[in-house]
Amino acid sequence: MSKESPNSAHQESYLIRTEHLSRTYTMGDQQVHALRGVSNHIDRGTFVAIMGPSGSGKSTFMNIIGCLDKPSGGKYFLDGVDVSSLNRDQLAEIRNKKIGFVFQQFNLLARTSALENVELPLLYADVPASERKRRAHEALERVGLGGRVHHHPNQMSGGQQQRVAIARALVTQPKLILADEPTGNLDSETSIEVMTLFQELWKTGITIVLVTHEPDIAGFAGRVISMKDGRVRIDRRQEPADARAALARERALRAQEHPEELAPGEPAP
Ligand code: ADP
Ligand code: MG
Repeated sequence: MSKESPNSAHQESYLIRTEHLSRTYTMGDQQVHALRGVSNHIDRGTFVAIMGPSGSGKSTFMNIIGCLDKPSGGKYFLDGVDVSSLNRDQLAEIRNKKIGFVFQQFNLLARTSALENVELPLLYADVPASERKRRAHEALERVGLGGRVHHHPNQMSGGQQQRVAIARALVTQPKLILADEPTGNLDSETSIEVMTLFQELWKTGITIVLVTHEPDIAGFAGRVISMKDGRVRIDRRQEPADARAALARERALRAQEHPEELAPGEPAP
């Protein structure tokens, strides 16, 4: 383990704070202004949904707050540390220690077991093998896949694969989980199932920032930020919908309309 950055002693009440964040991409002789000065902050333990039309800068914003990309201008403080001043290695270390990522396409290794997929971030963090296995098992239990640790992603449904990806994101015990359209490839019921997991993680104090196109999905967050043309247009707090209750309703509806689809052993709601 390398030493802590000297700034990390400062405890800020915000987990994320940005000042006039901008990102400009150069495409040939064209300049694309993907972010045009975003000043914002996110409290620890918040569940934020980011919405906005395609091309509005959501992924660019997520990549910067996830330390995967650097801003062209402005400042970014993560957990009190001025991230804009860090080099590549320091960014990689912060990512590994503090952030878990979940993507629309799951991004799992297809021919590798669920367990090994989940162990991967711990491998990068130099955690000993036995400890890696124990923690990966625990994370898979937590997402309800304790019985499938040796399955490969290509033997799993989309919802199961996304749960493996969530286990991989939480195995390092991050403060922050970033999810870019995590339900984009899932049907409604499976999407809500995945949202129950995010809400459970949120209840344990993890901060979650999730990009979605769907208002229903954003309804499960406690705050919604809407972006347009690289700027924050709307930022509102709300009473989050309860994903567990929504899931029960969705299942009851399906049982009514398609009783034959209930999986063997699945309790009729
Ligand atoms: P969203 O996630 O909201 O769809 P993005 O952040 O992906 O939006 O993109 C914002 C703008 O930046 C878009 O106009 C997009 O075409 C442009 N953009 C994103 N990534 C790149 C890149 N790597 N190179 C050039 N332009 C990019
Ligand atoms: Mg995007």
